[in-house]
This record gives sequence, structure tokens and C-alpha cells, in this order.
Amino acid sequence: MTKKGTLMVVSGPAGVGKGTIVKLACEKAKGNIHLSISATTRNPRPIDKEGVTYYFKTKEEFQSMIEHNEVLEWAEYVGNYYGTPRKPVEEALSKGVDVILEIEVQGAMQIKKNFPGAVLTFVAPPSREELENRLRGRGTETEEQILSRLKTAEGELSRMNEYDYIVVNDQIEQASEDLLTILRAEKLKQKFE
Ligand code: 5GP
Repeated sequence: MTKKGTLMVVSGPAGVGKGTIVKLACEKAKGNIHLSISATTRNPRPIDKEGVTYYFKTKEEFQSMIEHNEVLEWAEYVGNYYGTPRKPVEEALSKGVDVILEIEVQGAMQIKKNFPGAVLTFVAPPSREELENRLRGRGTETEEQILSRLKTAEGELSRMNEYDYIVVNDQIEQASEDLLTILRAEKLKQKFE
């Protein structure tokens, strides 16, 4: 019998570098981790690619996905909708493949409630100052967007204690190893089902 894969949520404030850590962890796992591609109504950034970084949707299309129960979770974040398409995640898990959802706090809490076996990891910055530097360094947002994201980040950091694991992104290499260690430990955990 194939053991079901682990559903892992990775959250953390914008600019913390969670995307980089997750990408590195997936590369190291050589195809044994499925990284979920979210749907969103936000405008694509220059580095975005349809179907690779996100599925870009209109508000109407997104609404229809919710109504047809096609998302595992969804949330409104800084004025846009974000959600996890259900089918690819369920298919990967049933094949025994681990799945990472890189999502914000509200969505993470929906997963915690609806999938008791999910493991929640929060990627924290070494300090608040470092987070602001990184966010500004990206150079992709306007000042207004940066301030809005910093405010959101404050709220997110205050919910860190609702997660199972905390990975401090001091060093990308180590942080990506930490994610893989959590997945390994999860496999060894005794499950009383
Ligand atoms: P960004 O616009 O910077 O790509 O993402 C903004 C925030 O939305 C990030 O914290 C990201 O993790 C989160 N996010 C991305 N996809 C999803 C999703 O499917 N669901 C939820 N709840 N959050 C998501």
C-alpha cells in the first residue's frame, strides 16, 4: 500500500525568502516534492509565468473556482485573492508524493482545520530590520505596496506561534535543509489513525 504524502504548509512574511528556500528544497528532493501552483487575481510581475509561478485569474474566474469547490483553501491578501487548486494536490498526496503549499496565514489556518495531518512551517526573518531591507531590495513594489506588505508582515509574525515548526532564514542552504528535515521527521512520526 502506498503511504500518503505529507501536506506541508510554508508561510512567512513577504520578503522573507520563503520562495527561494522552498525552490531549493524541491530541487534537492529531486521530484519527490510537488510544489502547488496557486491561482491568484493579482497582476503578474515581470518574473511571473502563467502556469509556472501562478495561474492568473479574473475575479469572476476565481469566484467560480470557489463555488465549484475547486480550491483547498483561499484568502484575500493585500487586495487580491489567492487559492490552492484542489485536484493536483490530492492527486500527488494519493501517490505518496509530499506537497508544499506556499501560502499566507489565513489559508494556512484553513488547512490546519481541514487537514489534521498537515504540517505547518513558518519561515521567520533573522530580524524585522532584515525583513524590511529584503522587501525593499526586491524593487518590484511601490512605496505604498511596501508599507502595506510591512503592515501585513507584522500581523503575520504575531501568528508564528500557531505553526508546528519555525525555520529562521538566516542562511538559505540551512533553511532549505531544515524544511527537508521536517518532512523526514514527519515520515517517521507514529500516526494513530
Ligand atoms: P505574492 O503576491 O508575493 O506572490 O504572494 C503574496 C502572499 O500570498 C504570499 O504570502 C504567498 O505565500 C501567499 N499565497 C500564494 N498563493 C497562495 C494561495 O494559494 N493561498 C493563500 N492563502 N495564500 C497564497
